[in-house]
Amino acid sequence: MKRIKFLDLHAQYLSIKDDIDKAIKDVIEQSAFIKGPFLEKFENEFSDYIGTKHCIGVANGTDGLEIAIEALNLPKGSEIIVPVNSFISSAEAVTRSGHKVVFCDADPDTYTISVDSVKLKITSKTKAIIAVHLYGHPCEMDELLKLCEENNLRLIEDCAQAHGAKYRGKKIGGIGDIGVFSFYPGKNLGAYGDGGAVTTNNDALAKRMGMIANHGRIAKYDHEFEGRNSRLDGLQAAILSVKLQHLDKWLNQRNLIADYYNSELKEINGISLHRNSSEIFHAYHLYVIRVNNREKLQKFLEANHIETGIHYPIALNKLKAYDYLNQKNDNFYASKNDSKLLSLPIGEHLHIEDAKRVTNTLKTFFSEQ
Ligand SMILES: *Cc1c(COP(=O)(O)O)cnc(C)c1O
Repeated sequence: MKRIKFLDLHAQYLSIKDDIDKAIKDVIEQSAFIKGPFLEKFENEFSDYIGTKHCIGVANGTDGLEIAIEALNLPKGSEIIVPVNSFISSAEAVTRSGHKVVFCDADPDTYTISVDSVKLKITSKTKAIIAVHLYGHPCEMDELLKLCEENNLRLIEDCAQAHGAKYRGKKIGGIGDIGVFSFYPGKNLGAYGDGGAVTTNNDALAKRMGMIANHGRIAKYDHEFEGRNSRLDGLQAAILSVKLQHLDKWLNQRNLIADYYNSELKEINGISLHRNSSEIFHAYHLYVIRVNNREKLQKFLEANHIETGIHYPIALNKLKAYDYLNQKNDNFYASKNDSKLLSLPIGEHLHIEDAKRVTNTLKTFFSEQ
């Protein structure tokens, strides 16, 4: 029986092999490894795609978050609100920039940051919010923007899972002050190694982020302040330029699979689905269901050659790394649900027949319960 993979980067490579191979060769022929024409080209293409004035390539998404926070020049020890259900980077970047993580809950329907929960966490020390477009579903941006305006807060979008997603017709990454993208290989737009980018419409922030990522300099040895080395290299940029041309087609295929899952799974007793808010275009980096008997189900799917994942098994406030914050006992909806989450295979490598096999296997499992 054919294995239904969670991710198939090799199949993706084969589908665009000639263009990728040529792009890699071009970079090497021109020795344009750091900065240079391939990076510039990709930065222009990506800012056009997102619809922002600026895009700056960085070494990875986690660095991008740190650089974004640093560029905001917040007072040391500011509180930054982070949703509890995310990858650790969203919180790590806050601490590493000298600020305090304050966790908030997820919205039970969409599982993105809960605006009501954010409201409860705002204090006089709160200076920013990290809106994670989790699984590829855009956060409730209008309400977050309103909240930021009322409380004088900055809004950073963690877009690592949501390249190409839209909120009320507008691409995410250009709605808050800064958008942060990861090009980790498994993301919807992935490099062949680490990579990331920050996007903004604000000239001053763009300049500052570009300098922070490149040793605080404006010219080769003219350093205005201490920055760091966090650049997207030429090889990755050239590969991303090739892949960006296919992104919309790949996102449509992800949506096709997700629509099929939604229609087939909604009637199954024992599966809860996340709900999409209206007026969004979902990037479906992940397709996540909630079940009570996850371990048993995961084994059953594995026995039927269907790969699954868990995103994320432990809510951030319960991680050992955050013991020191004493936010473990916050009674979050999201942290009570983390034992139920299961990510089904999704991606442009799947066909409807694959999705059908997944839903039929799920139907068999739940009919036997
Ligand atoms: C992947 C991811 C990141 C980190 O990106 P890297 O490029 O791996 O550093 C940050 N936030 C979220 C939500 C992610 O999924």
